[in-house]
Amino acid sequence: MPSPVSDARPTVAVLYICTGKYTVFWPDFYKTFRQNFLPECDKTFFVFTDAPFLAFDGEPDVRRVYQEAYDWPLSTLLRFEMFLTREYELKSFDYLFFANANLLCQQVVTAEEFLPRPEQGEVLLVVQQPGFWDKTPPFYSYDRNPRCRAYIPYNCGRDYVSGGLNGGTAKAFLAMCHVLAKRTDEDLAEGVIALWHDESQLNRYIAELDPARYRLLTPAYWYPEGWHLPFEPKITVRDKSKWIDMTAVKGKKRELSFAARKWDAFCQNYLPVFLAVRDTLMLKHLPRHDP
Ligand code: UDP
Repeated sequence: MPSPVSDARPTVAVLYICTGKYTVFWPDFYKTFRQNFLPECDKTFFVFTDAPFLAFDGEPDVRRVYQEAYDWPLSTLLRFEMFLTREYELKSFDYLFFANANLLCQQVVTAEEFLPRPEQGEVLLVVQQPGFWDKTPPFYSYDRNPRCRAYIPYNCGRDYVSGGLNGGTAKAFLAMCHVLAKRTDEDLAEGVIALWHDESQLNRYIAELDPARYRLLTPAYWYPEGWHLPFEPKITVRDKSKWIDMTAVKGKKRELSFAARKWDAFCQNYLPVFLAVRDTLMLKHLPRHDP
């Protein structure tokens, strides 16, 4: 495995899903990532799509993979098994990274600042979710349902990471895909869907890992358009609703009454403290799923 500082150019596969209306994001994603993302690496874009034609079809660094357009949330939840359909090709790369469709890489992101450092033990790369980078684990939006395989009790966990930009060495990332595809399928077989889909599954996986095994970056690499965070934006997240009718994709959001909004705020801002004390007293831990 070449290290980011060796002379060999590392090979990177960028895993990109754009089914249905999300194809609208592909041209700017490709242009900005091709130009600015890991310029010291040889990149190949794997585009999982149902679109018959896409901009930049035929470019030597673009490989199209036919992917049926699932309904929400399967379109995002089933990503781990989508990637595994190309495992044979993907395992020949040094690094694999998944990126949400609506990202733009407007600043140069170097190998040194972004790649996990296997020589230091790191094999995965994850990015703090901007809504939680300054919060503590009881306040994270982990899945709290013990029936779900993404479940994390209130007294557990360490970081809250974004589902929309993550990766690692090919070996570590594919190993993670196997585990999370299996857990997702087992959940679905029991009629369970993790709170934030793939993101909840990823967070549970990260919670189980030794922190020395992953590199954690700030929300500079997951900077939502229009937000004001104390980081210089490197990778920005475009506001999807400016491009797509999100109600058509995800359905209408439930309107909350005044009382329900107050209860919701209490549940988010205060209740986790009590639940963390409860789970600590009950000696809760991450239940094992896998042999
Ligand atoms: N996605 C897609 N087609 C869809 C819905 C989702 O291709 O109809 C993919 C796309 O890569 C997108 C990702 O799933 O970036 C996550 O969906 P979304 O960005 O809507 O979810 P969020 O990250 O906002 O929860």
